[in-house]
Amino acid sequence: MSESTRLPQGSTIGILGGGQLGRMLALAAARLGMKTHIYCPDPDSPAFDVTPRKTVAAYDDEEALARFAAEVDVITYEFENVPARTAAFLQQLKPLRPDAKALAVAQDRLAEKAFLTINRIPVAPFAAITDLDRLEAELAEIGTPAVLKTTRLGYDGKGQRIVRNMEDAALAWEMLSPRPLVLEGFIAFDKEISVVVARNAAGEVAAFEPAENVHREHILKSSTVPADISRKTARNAVEMAGDIATALDYVGVLGVEFFVLPGGRLLVNEIAPRVHNSGHWTEAVAITDQFEQHIRAISNWPLGDPSRMADVVMENLIGDEITAIPGKLGEGLRPHAYGKAESRKGRKMGHINRVAVKKRPK
Ligand code: AMP
Repeated sequence: MSESTRLPQGSTIGILGGGQLGRMLALAAARLGMKTHIYCPDPDSPAFDVTPRKTVAAYDDEEALARFAAEVDVITYEFENVPARTAAFLQQLKPLRPDAKALAVAQDRLAEKAFLTINRIPVAPFAAITDLDRLEAELAEIGTPAVLKTTRLGYDGKGQRIVRNMEDAALAWEMLSPRPLVLEGFIAFDKEISVVVARNAAGEVAAFEPAENVHREHILKSSTVPADISRKTARNAVEMAGDIATALDYVGVLGVEFFVLPGGRLLVNEIAPRVHNSGHWTEAVAITDQFEQHIRAISNWPLGDPSRMADVVMENLIGDEITAIPGKLGEGLRPHAYGKAESRKGRKMGHINRVAVKKRPK
C-alpha cells in the first residue's frame, strides 16, 4: 500500500493484541466492510470472539509473525508495549501504523518527555535517575513530593512511588531499581483531562473534545464530556494533541493525557499510541467513534466527523461491577461488555455510557 492509496473494502487489518481495544477495533472495521486478523499469545483473548481470523503465538515468534503479515494488508496494535524487535520485523513486511517510532517514544517515559520537550509541549519537571545519589540530588532540585517511575512498562499506577521526603528516597529506590527510572515533580493538578486525536498519512487531523477523567485506585473510573474546563484550555489541549500527532508524523488514533493546573495551564502526562479508554464515550455520542477513526486513518481513508451529539459520562465497569449489564437499563444508558470469561479485582470488564438524552418538548 503506498502512502496515498486507500485500502479497498474487504482488505484485512492485522491487530496485535486481543484485549477489549482490539475487539472494539475489529467491530468497527467490520462495520466499514473490512476484515481483521487478531494476533495474541493468549488463547482466551476477548477479541477472538468477534473475528474468525486469529493467530495465537508469542510476540517474538518470527515464523508466526511472518505468516500473519502475509495474510494482512496493514498492521496496527492495541497496546503500546509491542516489543521493538517485533515492530521492526513486521514493519519490513507490511505497513505498521502507527509506526515503530511512535511506539519507541510512547514506550519509554524518558524518550517521551524528551520528545515532547523538544517539540515545545510542556511536561512536569523530570530527570533520569541512575542511582541513589542521583535521586537525592534531583530531589533537592525538583523538590518534594515527587514521583519516581520506571521508564518502561508502567500502567494503571504500577511501577511508580510518591517520594514525600528525603527519607522516602532510599525506600523508593529499593522498590523500583534496578530498572531505569525517571523522577517527576509532583503536580498538584486541578483535574486530569485527555484528548483523543486522529491523523492520517495525508496529514489530516481530527480531534475529539477533551474528556475529564477520574481515577479510582489508579484505574480510570469515568470520563465526562464536556470537561469542566474553559474553552481556552480545551482549545489548547486539542491543539497540543494535534501538534504531537503531527510532530510524530503519526498515523492512527493517539491518546494524550494532561494535567490541568489551577488557572488552566496544561502539562502533558503521557501519550498512548492507540485507541484510549478515555475515548470510549465516542462510541455512544460522536458521529465517528475513535475505533472507526483509527481504522479510517490506518487504511488511508479520509477521517470521519468527530462532532459530539450529546453530553456523556463513560463509566468503566471494573471487576464485579460487570454484573450490572444484564440488569434493567435506565434512560440514556448504553452498556458494552468485553466478554471476558473471568472477572478479577481491578480488571476492566466493560463500560457504560450515560448519555444525557435531550427531551423534545411535548
Ligand atoms: P501515569 O501512569 O504516569 O499515567 O500515572 C497514573 C496517575 O498517577 C496519573 O493519572 C495521575 O493521577 C498520577 N500521577 C502520575 N504522575 C504524577 C505527577 N507527576 N504528579 C501528580 N500525579 C501524578
